[in-house]
Amino acid sequence: MIINNLKKLKNNLNSRDLSIYLFHGVIKKKPNSSNVRNYNLKHIDQKKFEKYIKYLSEHGKAITLNEIEKNKGDFFKKYIITFDDGFHNNYKYALPILKKYKIPHIIYLTTNYVDKNLISWIDRIDIAINNNKKKFIYSSILRKRFRLDNRKNKIYFLNFVRNYCKSLRDTDLNKFAEILLKDIKLYSPKSSNSDLDKKLSWKHVKKMSKNGLSEFGAHSHNHNILGHLKEAQYKKEILISLKTLLKKANIKTKHYSYPEGFKTSFNNQIIKFLKKNKIKTAVTTLLPKENKNSSFKLNRFFVI
Ligand SMILES: [Zn+2]
Repeated sequence: MIINNLKKLKNNLNSRDLSIYLFHGVIKKKPNSSNVRNYNLKHIDQKKFEKYIKYLSEHGKAITLNEIEKNKGDFFKKYIITFDDGFHNNYKYALPILKKYKIPHIIYLTTNYVDKNLISWIDRIDIAINNNKKKFIYSSILRKRFRLDNRKNKIYFLNFVRNYCKSLRDTDLNKFAEILLKDIKLYSPKSSNSDLDKKLSWKHVKKMSKNGLSEFGAHSHNHNILGHLKEAQYKKEILISLKTLLKKANIKTKHYSYPEGFKTSFNNQIIKFLKKNKIKTAVTTLLPKENKNSSFKLNRFFVI
C-alpha cells in the first residue's frame, strides 16, 4: 500500500499492527513537470515529510527494530521509520526534521554506493531517459521500439525496463544498465552530486551513528536482487555489505533490507544465511497480508 496523504497515514497508524514506513529520499524542491526524474516520487518534498513526521510524533510512538520483541502484542499507534538506499539527502533534509521531533530511524545502506557515490542501475536509466532528446529509440535487448516524445511515453519505457530488470536472473543489474544504455545509445553518469542521486559518505554515516537517533542497516553491496542471484553471489553480496559496514563505520548491524523487497527478492536460504550472520530482522516492501509474521519478512508502507 502506498501512503500519499495525511488521512491515509492516520488510518494506517491507528491500525492494531505495527506500521513500518519506507522512505527513500527527502528533497527541497519539486522537479519541473516535464521532468521524469523522481516520477515515482521516491524522494518526497521536505514540507510534506515534516507534515508526516509532526503528525506521527504527536499521535503515535516511534520505536526501533530492536524494540519489536518487547512491544509484541501492543503495536497500536507504534511505528518505525526506515529509509532505503542511503541518499545524502537523508542527512541534509530529513535528519534536521527527525532531530526536531526526536524520531529514531534506520537507514539501510547499499554499501558499495557509499563514498564512491554511485548511482543505482535504475536511477542511471531514469537520468538517461530524462536527458534524452530523441523521439524514438530501439533496443535490440528488449526487442522493441519505444516512443520517447513525451513524459507519458518516457514513463512507459522506464516502467517497462524496471519490470524487465526484475525478471532477470543471475545478472548484475549495474552491469546490465551499462549494456542497456549502450544498446539504446544513451549516456548516463555513474555518479552525481544532485540531491536526487548523491549518496551518504562514510564520514556522515559515522557522524550520524553517534547522534542517538540514526541507526544503519545493510541493503546489499550493489543493490542486486538477492533472490535472483546464485547462492555464491547472494552470499557474497550479504557478506561484503556486512563487512563493509563494520570496517568503514564500525557498525555491527542486526538489520537487513532486501533490495526491491518483493516476493522473489528473498527466499528461505537467504533468510537462513542472514540468521547465520547475526541478522535479527529483515524488511520487505510486501503488504501485510503477505507478511507471514516473521521478523525476516517485515512488511512496510511506502510513504510518498
Ligand atoms: Zn533500494
